[in-house]
Amino acid sequence: MGKYIVAGNWKMNKLPSETYDYVKEVVEATKGSNCEVVCCTPYVCLAPAIEAAKGTHVKIGAENLHFEDKGAYTGEVSADMLVDLGVQYVIIGHSERREYNNETDETVNLKTKKALEKGLIPIVCVGESLEQREAGITMDLIAIQIKKAFADISAEDAKKVVIAYEPIWAIGTGKTATSDQAEEVCGGIRKILADLYCEKCSLEFTIQYGGSMNPGNAAELMAKPNIDGGLIGGASLVAENFAAITKSC
Ligand code: PEP
Repeated sequence: MGKYIVAGNWKMNKLPSETYDYVKEVVEATKGSNCEVVCCTPYVCLAPAIEAAKGTHVKIGAENLHFEDKGAYTGEVSADMLVDLGVQYVIIGHSERREYNNETDETVNLKTKKALEKGLIPIVCVGESLEQREAGITMDLIAIQIKKAFADISAEDAKKVVIAYEPIWAIGTGKTATSDQAEEVCGGIRKILADLYCEKCSLEFTIQYGGSMNPGNAAELMAKPNIDGGLIGGASLVAENFAAITKSC
């Protein structure tokens, strides 16, 4: 329903010295894809990635940002720094950052607002653990994550946010959610957005699925009405696989 966007999340993989050539490979391989193609790279890879993507259809994103403008935050990177480099997208609230880096629904909200203020497109990640799924609280948890992420964000701004539904149990495990399971939650997210904003606005959001998406399952997942693309970890590290996913849209 929203615009199709397929974004790679390189995580802590690939070296700055490999990045230029790899992004060039992605540019070639993804030509003719019927979706927006994004590579989200580690901070240190952003400059060569942007150089390689300049003037092409591929957009570059970061994997995180800080919610303050500037100051004494050793080791952090601000939205202005990303914009100054030419970054267009930023992943916020990935489950790995929630688990290992104290990311909370509150910091996700602060970062989402900062990204929007500075003109970056946030890719906000939500998703449940296996325990939460088995306890039957998936949609309750997702509703909390979405409501908190979008607190104090107007409908006009909210529609610029990409939401990535990523069941934690499917990330990097090879265990993909079935297309029905993914559609059920993505459709549920659209209903939450309709309640928060309006029915018509909810149709404009891009809602991605992420979690072991690969060339073999991408077409079936993205054929579902509420799945508008994917956030891709492992399969984004091989250009041929990533391109096959972008061509499944
Ligand atoms: C991710 O980390 O966002 C992800 C979906 O990883 P993978 O595709 O490797 O499961």
